Amino acid sequence: MRLEERASTDAIRRARERYVPRGVATTDLVVTRAWGARLWDADGTEYLDFAGGIACQNLGHGNAAVVRAIHEQVDRYLHQCFMVGMYEPYVALAEKLDDLYPRGANGGPTYGPGAAGFAGGASSLRQAATKTLLVNSGAEAIENAVKIARAATGRAGVVVFDHAFHGRTNLTMAMTSKLVYKQGFGPLATDIHRAPAPYPYHGVSTADAIRGLELLFKQDVDARDVACIVLEPVQGEGGFIPMPVDFIRALRELCDAHGIVYVDDEVQAGCGRTGTVWALEQYGVEPDLLVAGKTLGGGLPLAAVTGRAELMDAPHPGGLGGTFGGNPVACAAALAVLDELSSPGFRERAEQIATLLRSRLDEIAARFPTVVGEVRGLGAMLALELTERSGDAAKAVTTKARENGLVLLSCGLYGNVIRLLPPLSATDEELERGLGILEDALGNASTG
Ligand code: PLP
Repeated sequence: MRLEERASTDAIRRARERYVPRGVATTDLVVTRAWGARLWDADGTEYLDFAGGIACQNLGHGNAAVVRAIHEQVDRYLHQCFMVGMYEPYVALAEKLDDLYPRGANGGPTYGPGAAGFAGGASSLRQAATKTLLVNSGAEAIENAVKIARAATGRAGVVVFDHAFHGRTNLTMAMTSKLVYKQGFGPLATDIHRAPAPYPYHGVSTADAIRGLELLFKQDVDARDVACIVLEPVQGEGGFIPMPVDFIRALRELCDAHGIVYVDDEVQAGCGRTGTVWALEQYGVEPDLLVAGKTLGGGLPLAAVTGRAELMDAPHPGGLGGTFGGNPVACAAALAVLDELSSPGFRERAEQIATLLRSRLDEIAARFPTVVGEVRGLGAMLALELTERSGDAAKAVTTKARENGLVLLSCGLYGNVIRLLPPLSATDEELERGLGILEDALGNASTG
């Protein structure tokens, strides 16, 4: 059967119903083509894409440099398995990630939440030498970061936070903070400990979160038994909650004091979404391990654990790896992605987009004060939290928006946060048009 034979929306929906399990929850959108900030369904209807396949298209669909790199690599070879036959794209990407590692110590953040303007970005003061492990998905990378931290420290404990999302594998679903991802799938992995994360809109301050960690270390686990803490600098699935600068700094100090490995999960917040290549650059803090994924592969499955060389070398030979990890085509795409993300033009445009989105979202929030509770985020990683603590209103908004030609996602523990993930290649006209559709959909929700 040729694929085109089924290319109508209804036929694809019917086949999905028949052959794909319901556990893979889908919207009923059927995509057949995508370019830049737009996609088209099987019936030819055009949509603006403010979802990017969940944060995987920060450069927009079909970025020319990324597509060219993929084509060139496809013509050389598709797969080798790095453990069987080494190849250049893998080591070149590891070198590039070393180059871009957020080395902190650049005078501190000027663009954390509550501050204005971008910091100097990745420091020119090179500190840690890093090495990189490449794998296939964010969850696999987080699993490996935990393995590396455990091997390096000889400890088992893992500290994670409220509202965290780290993946759906056995270990990462235990690290993730939402029932839907783990209910009925136990037994869950042990030695995972959860602490509160700052969430000012819900009344949790940095001081509360630090007190929560102190309690955790008194009540549940000795800090000397903790291998790593894992934190998203801007919590993604949890509701686009930017971590305050003082919290990240306090964690860094706490890790240093207790010999705990600081794992920075930038699977969603990284790869340019917040303006800098890595969100942590804006905090002036250097992690011990950084996990990247999503946009990294430019649309191909790829994720990375990059970190201090002595930690990365802690696992014994053969302890890390996988058949497809660091696939050469995905590596070639990632090299092009990182070149684009680290160009000065990208950063400048991301900053403009952040300003445009933020000011329009503030206007929209002011227009619907009973519906929108808060506008928040970091850089162009922005969201609206709705006042209703259920997903109903957000669902009504995203559904209405899609009817009117805008693909939007919700997130948050209650499903009541509408997150914006437009490509950072979108034009002002596309952004304004998408925001207009969002505004109308909110208007609809507020009246009906
Ligand atoms: N970590 C964060 C912060 C994420 O947002 C995600 C996915 O949404 C993951 C890890 C897991 O990534 P993947 O879905 O590629 O396994």
